[in-house]
Amino acid sequence: MTRTAIRSAFQTVGALLAEGVRHLEEALASDPGATPELDAQLLLAHALRISRTCVYSHPEQPAHEPAAQRFRALIARRAAGVPVAYLLERKAFWTLELAVSSAVLVPRPETELLVERALALRPEACASAVDLGTGSGAIALALAHERPGWRVSATDISSEALSVARANAIALGLERVNFAQGSWFAALPACRFDLVVSNPPYVAATDVALAALVHEPRRALTPGPDALACLREIIGDAPRFLAAGGWLLLEHGAEQGPQVAGALTARGFVTVRTHRDLAGHERVTEGQWPAIR
Ligand code: GLN
Repeated sequence: MTRTAIRSAFQTVGALLAEGVRHLEEALASDPGATPELDAQLLLAHALRISRTCVYSHPEQPAHEPAAQRFRALIARRAAGVPVAYLLERKAFWTLELAVSSAVLVPRPETELLVERALALRPEACASAVDLGTGSGAIALALAHERPGWRVSATDISSEALSVARANAIALGLERVNFAQGSWFAALPACRFDLVVSNPPYVAATDVALAALVHEPRRALTPGPDALACLREIIGDAPRFLAAGGWLLLEHGAEQGPQVAGALTARGFVTVRTHRDLAGHERVTEGQWPAIR
């Protein structure tokens, strides 16, 4: 055994954690939203196959070499900017625990506002909803979980994303959600829904924010130079898929509320409203397809 091997064979959980935190603090120094301590705890718990509580309540425990190596490999990938969710292969969304891979956008907490609004607009036990560009299935599965009587569909252009979403549906006992492959509404037969919800790509291809998101599917983040292209396409087609009195709910960028609201009004939607997320950013705009026109 080399000296290094002997030394690391007796490394404690606490020492390993401190090493990981130091590494991440340095590597992620330019990211104001970085959480090196939390990330290192989560990754160490994952590598050691113990709970995060155990990581910080038993720092004196020995960490054996294979686990330490797994941890260092995870820390190196995190230091390179890979989201923690991809490293853990899991992300909590709403009340659900979802499997995620790099084929899907990491579900964001602000997207829970879309779920909240959809549920508030349709308190009925029976309704139909479709989630366009479902990715991991987050929105569709949260709605199906909350409303066992709803008919829920979800579409995505990516077959890899749909595999992730379908696996999540099975794992959560929500097999009744109907998944279809295709671009937005093109995946669907002619039918009408009470709710159409979507978190489409809305970051302009030129936006510097994309640099920090290189590990996520580009197609899920940006429609190209026109940040509003997908939002406009969905607004344009939605009336053909909405029941009278049905609602379209869209997630969008913090600065896009007025434009999305304007496009909805111009298309003939009524009761158009924009809602702020927990960070205070305008994030979701909804509009109702009028019952009588
Ligand atoms: N909310 C994501 C972000 O800015 C973007 C998601 C999207 O384009 N739909 O990180």
